[in-house]
Amino acid sequence: MSVAASPPSATQVIPVLLKGQKALVTGANSGIGRAIAIALGQSGADVAVNYVDGDAAAQEVVDAIIAAGSRAVAIKADVSDEAEVQAMFQRMYQEYGTIDILVNNAGLQRDAPFDQMTLAQWNFVLGVNLSGQFLCAREALREFKRRGIVREVSVAAGKIICISSVHEVIPWSSHANYAASKGGIMLMMKTLAQEGAPFGVRVNSICPGAIRTPINTTAWDTPAAYAALMTHIPYKRIGEPEDIGRVAVMLASDLSDYITGASIFVDGGMTLYPEFATGG
Ligand code: NAD
Repeated sequence: MSVAASPPSATQVIPVLLKGQKALVTGANSGIGRAIAIALGQSGADVAVNYVDGDAAAQEVVDAIIAAGSRAVAIKADVSDEAEVQAMFQRMYQEYGTIDILVNNAGLQRDAPFDQMTLAQWNFVLGVNLSGQFLCAREALREFKRRGIVREVSVAAGKIICISSVHEVIPWSSHANYAASKGGIMLMMKTLAQEGAPFGVRVNSICPGAIRTPINTTAWDTPAAYAALMTHIPYKRIGEPEDIGRVAVMLASDLSDYITGASIFVDGGMTLYPEFATGG
């Protein structure tokens, strides 16, 4: 149930900034990844839509991108599996020749109080959320360094956008595996940004607050849950996946050419210590 109206963000026009660029978005058949893939396609990029399960949902994203006038292909791969990631990049190169934009989005939760969390829960979340981003970023960096800058496409050799979370800085009880994965992304991203900059590679993170997706349905799908959520959000609305899609377009484009190593919080103020809004 949708309990509160948000701005009509899904219908806002995306500027064409990415013509000729080739993008790969992981976990792109749901939620934030889906919105990013469609926004990049609307902005002119050809998009590889990665997914791990849900063929029909992936095809629906491909269709939406093609309808927007760009090319799209669905590529099934588990981002936590090294061989599958390498095969996914090879497939992308067969399809598009190269990569200009990687959006490391795939992620999940397996929540438990710390003393009840199993090693399997810990490893599973770290494997997808952190190691998955490492494996994909490594492949993309190899191609960016091999190919270098192609001026007519972008002034940068390549762009990597890591989807982190406000929980790269906000501790989260009963989510130690998730928070650790996002904290890990922060320093992986910054280290990679430092290492990639001399080669013209820009690396940044988007840190969403609460976004209306299947990962967190219980946080927004009843009026009581939504009201409780609003106590954490000074801007007084939940985020929509398209809020993240637009920022991804901006970060991927040359408009952001001097931004690297940054965590961009897209959270309606969730990281502004809302409990101090009335003086603390
Ligand atoms: P979602 O569950 O709708 O989407 C997650 C996507 O990742 C799905 O497409 C899923 O199939 C994919 N995925 C999971 N495991 C995979 C694997 N091994 N290989 C490839 N793909 C895999 O959730 P979402 O909210 O859209 O989450 C997307 C990202 O945004 C995640 O990294 C999440 O941590 C982050 N995030 C979400 C929120 C939020 O409020 N929704 C807030 C902060 C950060």
